[in-house]
Amino acid sequence: MLTEFSAAELSRKIASKEVSCREVVDAFLDRIARDDSRLGCFLTVDPEKARESARAAQAMVDTGSGGPLTGVPVALKDNISTEGIETTCASKILKGYIPPFDATVVTRLKLAGATLLGKTNLDEFAMGTSTENSAFQLTRNPWDLDRSPGGSSGGSAASVAGRLAPLALGSDTGGSIRQPAALCGVVGYKPTYGRCSRYGLIAFGSSLDQIGPFARSVEDAALITEAITGHDAMDGTSLPLPSISSARLKEGSLKGLKAALPKELFAESMNPGVLSTVYAAIESLKREGVRFTEISMPSIALGVTTYYIIAPAEASSNLARFDGVRYGVRVDGQGHIGLVERTRAEGFGHEVKSRIMIGTYALSAGYYDAYYLRALRIRSIMQHEFEETFKDFDFVLSPTSPVPAFRLGELRMDPMAMKLLDFCTIPANLGGMPGISLNCGFTEGLPVGLQLMGAPSEDEKLLQIAYSVEQALPTATNWPSIA
Ligand code: GLN
Repeated sequence: MLTEFSAAELSRKIASKEVSCREVVDAFLDRIARDDSRLGCFLTVDPEKARESARAAQAMVDTGSGGPLTGVPVALKDNISTEGIETTCASKILKGYIPPFDATVVTRLKLAGATLLGKTNLDEFAMGTSTENSAFQLTRNPWDLDRSPGGSSGGSAASVAGRLAPLALGSDTGGSIRQPAALCGVVGYKPTYGRCSRYGLIAFGSSLDQIGPFARSVEDAALITEAITGHDAMDGTSLPLPSISSARLKEGSLKGLKAALPKELFAESMNPGVLSTVYAAIESLKREGVRFTEISMPSIALGVTTYYIIAPAEASSNLARFDGVRYGVRVDGQGHIGLVERTRAEGFGHEVKSRIMIGTYALSAGYYDAYYLRALRIRSIMQHEFEETFKDFDFVLSPTSPVPAFRLGELRMDPMAMKLLDFCTIPANLGGMPGISLNCGFTEGLPVGLQLMGAPSEDEKLLQIAYSVEQALPTATNWPSIA
């Protein structure tokens, strides 16, 4: 079945004309039609538009102007703007909003000839860790349909694990690519802040947000990363660097690499099955010649607290634009204020409202110094600790998530416990470093994610290391069958 092939394999088959772009897109559309009523990955699928882009891709193949992504289907998280296709952020407030422009990543995917399959489910405005905060539907984990795929990019992660898409894009503000990747057993990669344009990504925490890929292998993740990254004048925080190249992906070796294990990221309170699986992976990597050293990074203990001040503060400002006048839903009320009040009261869900309130509070006169400014100071201390660490080490290794996939509903009523799940992923957002999650085994039949973090802007090196790590570890082969 075509849906079982990796993106790289599909790409080769398309280029050699063993299969047509139409056959490939149809295989995935059929799969979506068959399985998505149970998985709930997609909010929007437009088969006609998908087939249209497959036709354009085939024309590129036929005229010899295609590239490695030509004809390869990609799913997009529904907070990435797509011209002419509804983009909701899984929020009632944006129901019916059709962007008049494409995000830069979408423009670049189109130029590369990728086929756009549809828009995937997420926690409302990417705020959450389970995808249960979507205003529209639940997404289920393909490994166990009673469990969460993680979040906030749960729809993208589950679509790749379920082979409803060979590749998907998500966004990561505090772990929303890496954590769902870990819970779904796929690769999830957050590039260095600024290497992938945020233009057209509906903002949550602008100093933290970064777009990145989901794939079933590091090679596939690198393939799409190359197409979407690189400087973009439309994003003021875009780094003046070329796209992240995959040319030397397979040339690395683990022998002699130095890895740091921050003891704060191996807390005893973590799930024992996760810890033992990660420790087993460390043993395998030692046999390949990686030298591990336990270190201490005290600021990590403050990561969750710091993040849950900075991210809501930025969100409260970013989400001020949803006022019922300019986008999506409008609920009429008494005068202008009434309209804004009622639109926001009815349009935003509970988690989003709570973030706006916390963020507004943290930024208000009298509290700004006590909360926001303090959080920024801790952020600088953390950045400094990571800078120092990367002077001595090639990468930092940890579990991605302290727990494997949890049951849907299990943590919904315990927002504190839910937020603590971001413990291992938040540092890479606060520090701006690249981070990648790979599957490193299973506990009780559920995937366990291994996180690797690299020095800022050393994305090529991190991907090369991740590729070698993936070769050294047993990878998931029997992907879950949903049928
Ligand atoms: N779980 C974190 C939050 O709810 C991270 C979300 C994200 O990365 N978008 O804020």
